[in-house]
Amino acid sequence: MKKDKYEKIMEIARRRGFLWPSAEIYGSVAGLFDFGPLGSILKHNIEQKWRELYLIQEGFYEVETTTLTPEPVFIASGHTAHFVDPITQCEKCGEGFRADHLIAGTLGIAVGGKKIEELTKIIRENKLRCPDCGGNLKDAEYYNLMFKTTIGPGSKRIGFMRPETAQGIFILFNRMLRFYREQFPFGVIQIGRVYRNEISPRQGILRLREFTIAEAEIFVNPKDKSHPRFAEVANEKLAWYPKNEQFKNGKMLEITAREAVKNGYVLHEQLAYYIVRTKQFLESLGIPNDAIRARQHMPNELAHYAIDCWDVEVKTDRFGWIEVTGIADRTDYDVKAHAKLSKTDFSVKVGGENVIPHVIEPSYGIDRIVYCTLEQAYREDSKRTYLAFPKSIAPVRVGVFPLVSKNGLPEKAQEVDRILRIAGFITNYDESGSIGRRYARADEIGTPYSITADYDTIKDQTVTVRDRDSTRQVRVKISELANVLQKLLLGEINLDNAGAPFR
Ligand SMILES: [Zn+2]
Repeated sequence: MKKDKYEKIMEIARRRGFLWPSAEIYGSVAGLFDFGPLGSILKHNIEQKWRELYLIQEGFYEVETTTLTPEPVFIASGHTAHFVDPITQCEKCGEGFRADHLIAGTLGIAVGGKKIEELTKIIRENKLRCPDCGGNLKDAEYYNLMFKTTIGPGSKRIGFMRPETAQGIFILFNRMLRFYREQFPFGVIQIGRVYRNEISPRQGILRLREFTIAEAEIFVNPKDKSHPRFAEVANEKLAWYPKNEQFKNGKMLEITAREAVKNGYVLHEQLAYYIVRTKQFLESLGIPNDAIRARQHMPNELAHYAIDCWDVEVKTDRFGWIEVTGIADRTDYDVKAHAKLSKTDFSVKVGGENVIPHVIEPSYGIDRIVYCTLEQAYREDSKRTYLAFPKSIAPVRVGVFPLVSKNGLPEKAQEVDRILRIAGFITNYDESGSIGRRYARADEIGTPYSITADYDTIKDQTVTVRDRDSTRQVRVKISELANVLQKLLLGEINLDNAGAPFR
């Protein structure tokens, strides 16, 4: 049977140490994945790119709040009441199913948003059974997706593993306001693990029970949702898919951010600004423009706290368009709720007036972005399979090889490897198998440059530098190598002006 792209990528990811199912020796569990050595570096490099955007370019400081959260936080935010899915359980085998998905899948009718009583009625009337064992299904009920635990011994103090990082930021509002010396508006960012006890995750790495999100919570004046730097992105075009087009099964609109705001598709500049920045961020990871779109939430998918929300989606081979980022206007819902329950004043002075800030939230699913980056980097031709990562995010920057593993060449290559590590490069030294196989292994994990020490290296202190994408090579002096590689990786020079052509 022919493998699809997802299988091919996951096969490389497993074999080469990007992604492994968690607790594999015990049979593993759906929705839990470990990052192997290369996946871990790739993920960190992507997170670093995200920080370049939000921490450095936008100037939003980062916090790291706890993943274990006391109950009142999620009572105020509405998660204990609203963060639920309808579920039905099998009486015989105990398996749980999303009730609405089960109905949609077996009967082909859309029941999104229906109450559990109505779902139970449909299950009974149509005599639906457990898809796994044919057993009887129980009445539908609400199932909260948060992992509940207790803090300390006994059951007095309830805690939850956070399902989003946002709440940890909201409750720090006053501290952050002081940190910014009352300068308003301001943004706060956070990258961290979150937990959602999904009912039956069946999309591999794309639906996880523990994953990493990167979020910015931008506190703005409710009366002014213009963006001071909107002009920088206003003329950028992308594919917008507003709700009215989705209603009539219409088309995506290839328009600029300015047009999207002016024509009222997107509520205001703040949302449009971060949608464009997200597109640029994804492009910097090698995801092409034509695989990116901004899709507005339909009224029935809009979260209880949001007045407008756009998903930035990436087109995937197996799963079609998937959400990698959600950009929402959460209004004052959360800030107000925490102010009320904690009896804290969360207002800010704007022009002599006390206002409750509104929150603009771009929220990124890092694991999905890692997958999309892998998928877009995947290349296959008659000679080889390789990952064409942008150089700035490739996990291993440089491969270092002796041409043969004898006659003093390994020692020479190790000396070069040492020089490059001292200069700060993540390298991979490899002397096993033929040089062709070593190039192939380096290409497969997306190493942008491979250095080979050959017999000339001993004579004239030069090595060859091979480019992953073109497979062309040049000769460079060892004394200049670190500097040349630095410039190549930053894209300041290309291979042709990096050294003398070789072969
Ligand atoms: Zn069953």
